[in-house]
Amino acid sequence: MLYDNHGREINYLRLAVTDRCNLRCFYCMPEEGIDYLPRKELLSFEEMERLVRLLVPLGINKLRITGGEPFLRKGMLAFLERLSQIEGLTQINLTTNGTLTADIVPELKRIGIHAVNLSIDSLDEARFFQITRRDVFPQVMKTLEELLAHQITTKINAVVMPNYNLEDIIPLVNLTKDHPIAMRFIEEMPFNGKGAHEQTGLWDFPKILNYIQTHFPEFSKIPDPVSSTSFNYQVKGHQGTVGIIAAYSRLFCGSCNRIRLTPQGMLKTCLYDGGVFNVRDLMRAGATDEQLKMSFTDALAHRAKDGFEAEENRKFDRPISESMATIGG
Ligand code: SAM
Ligand code: SF4
Repeated sequence: MLYDNHGREINYLRLAVTDRCNLRCFYCMPEEGIDYLPRKELLSFEEMERLVRLLVPLGINKLRITGGEPFLRKGMLAFLERLSQIEGLTQINLTTNGTLTADIVPELKRIGIHAVNLSIDSLDEARFFQITRRDVFPQVMKTLEELLAHQITTKINAVVMPNYNLEDIIPLVNLTKDHPIAMRFIEEMPFNGKGAHEQTGLWDFPKILNYIQTHFPEFSKIPDPVSSTSFNYQVKGHQGTVGIIAAYSRLFCGSCNRIRLTPQGMLKTCLYDGGVFNVRDLMRAGATDEQLKMSFTDALAHRAKDGFEAEENRKFDRPISESMATIGG
């Protein structure tokens, strides 16, 4: 089993399969986009599969595919199919912007994708455009419809941003009334790509909670799943749930069970660290499975205790200006 130097068990791998994206959400990327990695620098599907296969016996049983936008990468469905055949992997989840996803929902269901996180920051088409800088709201809502119709566990992610989508908070909570959706509100983080946008007036966990409670007096705490990043609630009588993710306040580090691989194979043992070592380079230099496993256990033996320490330890890029599209969220 994989444990870190603070006694936390690691069972969750987040794999960002591409840094490319067809949206330009202003909290993630500047309008002109980011400098995309040359294709040969991306981990190949074979390399990613090899890594998953060697990490599963070490205790990784949960996998998230993210990006950039995962479905921009050609061959994604075949890759998901192969991953679904790996014994010991109990959950394969996806995070997507939903622009290219509606038509393939039946395939995701067939492959056995456990849950899909869909990013929807606004239910108003004009505000959605203002945030994402692309006119794709109907496609995203169609994906939501398809996910619900196919009874795939669906979570919606919304980054809470003053001046952009505060008026969406209540309508988004209301989606949980008739649908078994997990609606998650996320504190904005500074991963906006080359400093094109400054966070202003952070809406943090207490502020978001207080705002929702004011509108829904019967908003109660429900138990949080083990290692959950969200504090979870439910409006009385609603089918779905509401979570708040204190991603900037970093209130969940004590039970963090996850590691991340960036599209170019950099291991991150914390979202806020600058990358620990490049797994792709080791593999391409001929490392054996045993050597690769050792490098993961070594990295976890020196893991920062929380996101503040990880950020403090960054050698480059401080203050942070990476795009979340190069990390995967
Ligand atoms: N493109 C896909 C999507 O948008 O769902 C997957 C990748 S995206 C980087 C993963 C998640 O990170 C999204 O839910 C997005 O809202 C979130 N995210 C991106 N930048 C963020 C930021 N600066 N602060 C908080 N969350 C952010
Ligand atoms: Fe693309 Fe997702 Fe970043 Fe938006 S949040 S720009 S959809 S990677």
